[in-house]
Amino acid sequence: MYSGFYKVPQPYNEPVKNYAPGSPERKEIKAMLAAMRSEVVEIPMVIGGKRITTDEKIRIAPPHDINHTLGYFYQGGAEHVHMAIEAALSVRRQWQSLEWQDRAAIFLKAADLVSGPYRAKINAATMLGQSKTVHQAEIDSACEFADFLRFNVHYMAQIYGEQPISSPGIWNRMEYRPMEGFIYALTPFNFTAIAANLPSAPALMGNVVVWKPSNTQIYSARVIMEIFEEAGLPPGVINLIFVPGPVAGKILLQHPDFVGIHFTGSTEVFKKIWKAIGDHVAVHNTYPKIVGETGGKDFVLAHRSADPRALATALVRGAFEYQGQKCSAASRAYIPDNLWPEVKRLLLEDLQTIKVGPVEDFTNFMGAVIDEASFDKLAGYIDNAKKDEGVEVVFGGTYDKSNGYFIQPTVLQVQDPMYITMREELFGPVLTIYVYPEDQWTETLELVDRTSNYALTGAVFAKDRYAIEEANVALTNAAGNYYINDKPTGAVVGQQPFGGARASGTNDKSGSYLNLLRWVSPRTIKENFNPPIDYRYPFMEEA
Ligand code: NAD
Repeated sequence: MYSGFYKVPQPYNEPVKNYAPGSPERKEIKAMLAAMRSEVVEIPMVIGGKRITTDEKIRIAPPHDINHTLGYFYQGGAEHVHMAIEAALSVRRQWQSLEWQDRAAIFLKAADLVSGPYRAKINAATMLGQSKTVHQAEIDSACEFADFLRFNVHYMAQIYGEQPISSPGIWNRMEYRPMEGFIYALTPFNFTAIAANLPSAPALMGNVVVWKPSNTQIYSARVIMEIFEEAGLPPGVINLIFVPGPVAGKILLQHPDFVGIHFTGSTEVFKKIWKAIGDHVAVHNTYPKIVGETGGKDFVLAHRSADPRALATALVRGAFEYQGQKCSAASRAYIPDNLWPEVKRLLLEDLQTIKVGPVEDFTNFMGAVIDEASFDKLAGYIDNAKKDEGVEVVFGGTYDKSNGYFIQPTVLQVQDPMYITMREELFGPVLTIYVYPEDQWTETLELVDRTSNYALTGAVFAKDRYAIEEANVALTNAAGNYYINDKPTGAVVGQQPFGGARASGTNDKSGSYLNLLRWVSPRTIKENFNPPIDYRYPFMEEA
């Protein structure tokens, strides 16, 4: 019991280290990469704090060096899903009865572990397991991970402080109860920070969680769990299982105590999940909270007044960093014909200098795509583009999977603005460009808005203020994260809360109080100091 309104520390964004030659962080990460490559780890599930192994081991290899073995994870089945639910529910009351300040302390300590002693380890794991360059790993698994933890603690305190007004003789209170059951966190491969945030945000708000990461992120998921445990997270609060998604979903989503899902991943999977939840509404003890951040088909739209240099740089960074595997990656661009020759020249000049290869070589700007299925899918789109009429491969278009899943940055120019790669999420280093007549700005705004079902991120480049304003209005619903004269990627926790609507998700804005509000079930308490003792009202008296 605490006698005081404790203030949580002021959150801040973890400074990004630059890993320049000679820097201590560069030396440290190089040593960590070498050490991690030299060992073969076995990764068990973690249920109720116990390490769980099975008879089925699945090999983990760096996407950019597929003949090297980093380790194995133990694949579980239905029984482990049941175990994880039981483990979570068995500690629910104990976890919920802990003071919120204790929960805050655990996750604040976790943030300090991430940004301090575990920084090199979580970054190296993300580089090796998910093929991120050191910079991409740093902004994700060190900085964004720590930011989520520190800002979420701050938002939790802000939410708890939000209280109703009271009238004379009455004291109204709001209690932000955790949910009465367990939360299912289902996480994607592409951000270690998201994988960490989806189970930890509900846990911070007092919930118990079953967490299933993507198979291709398990190598860094193991480090996340280590950090939470070292920070003092009690056993059973977050249970880490490696079970195929459909097997896990079948049990978790139809359990009576299932009270919510925190999902990030593809639109296709989220739609299946939503449907499965709806199909079992009669079984659930309450209406589960459904939070899902899903796919994108993110645009860059340039006005004829745009700065070609800034535009070309935004396209290179926005489309090709982390091999285009960010939900926010620029993947369709609309360039006016007055700017195109110059933008094309600058774009090609930059792209010719980009090196693609193993991320342990720091001169590479891009690594490999995540797995063979993704490689084959992308190669298929590229092959079709080469054959299809009205499509020109402006740059790249080559790929090679002999040692790793490498795809050269590829730029397509299309005559038809509704060509498939302008509409569908490819999730790889492929940027499609449509060049429009410079005097058709207003028509192009309308085209951008209706081309895809997604509405995650988008960027507008212009110097003309009237054009900026026209775009702001015309594209109101085209993106949940909207950028003016900046690339559409790189949202920072606390600065640009992230999420989109339409087919891109429930737009609950991770990295803001809006997301945390989804993990509570508020109870309003009215206390009357002077309750009435007569049911009659004055109007009932005789005149
Ligand atoms: P995915 O949908 O393939 O997988 C997400 C999770 O669902 C993984 O844990 C996976 O194992 C599981 N899964 C896959 N199929 C399943 C099924 N049939 N039933 C149950 N679970 C299943 O996504 P991914 O490839 O890991 O991540 C890339 C996707 O995530 C892209 O579409 C990207 O746009 C999206 N994404 C969105 C955001 C955002 O904030 N909007 C952020 C990151 C990624």
